[in-house]
Amino acid sequence: MSEASGVQSEWFRIDDLFDLFASTDRQCRICGVSCEVCGNTWGVAGLAYPTITCASLPAELAEVQGPLPTREYLRRKAAVIERIGTSRPIFPGTTFGERSAPARREPPRVCLDFNSLLLREEVAQDPAIRALGLRLARFVAKTARSGKSYVLYEVEAWPVATRPPRVLAARMRRVKPPCPACGFHRTPPYDIDRPDPLLRSSLDGLHVVRLDHAPGMMFVSAAFRDALVRHRPSRTLSFVPVKVVDA
Ligand SMILES: [Zn+2]
Repeated sequence: MSEASGVQSEWFRIDDLFDLFASTDRQCRICGVSCEVCGNTWGVAGLAYPTITCASLPAELAEVQGPLPTREYLRRKAAVIERIGTSRPIFPGTTFGERSAPARREPPRVCLDFNSLLLREEVAQDPAIRALGLRLARFVAKTARSGKSYVLYEVEAWPVATRPPRVLAARMRRVKPPCPACGFHRTPPYDIDRPDPLLRSSLDGLHVVRLDHAPGMMFVSAAFRDALVRHRPSRTLSFVPVKVVDA
């Protein structure tokens, strides 16, 4: 666990090397897109909405396919939005539903596995965590070898954290608007060794978020972090302080 001494941080990037599951499998997804307008073939990695069950989505989302033509991607995206509304950002590569691979071992009380934050039942039921109003998806993980089952809760985190426009502009030679067809938007990578600050207004009222356009980066509030560390998380889980700025 690393933390700057003396300075109270409001937000932390969480990182872990824990490989609880053998794969990132979920039951359904919107595939990547191969866009005829901007020429990019792309999709995001690590964006999941586990509280949206696959049964509530079109059956075709369970099909594994390569990149979709823009028109087909937009049709599927519209069908998803029709069912779940517009509040969750949807990108090519977004996945839904619970983790479906077998667990390799007994889950720790808290771990981050393939971009998903997982809590054991006693952690999810902790009043300090319940008070944060998180979206939690309950599922049962079976271990491959022993066949033993564990109740786990996956924390749903939305990719709404943004970096200040001035920071992005300073790091890009030319800022281009997003592709009008597929939404592709080239943004500078998030460098974990020289991390960009997060924009305070994008974190308002939240306790767990992902970075927009790089949803593999997950951040938690100080309140959530304080509650998690009391439950002895996986020893490889770290909380790295991040700067939060007003503009
Ligand atoms: Zn495009």
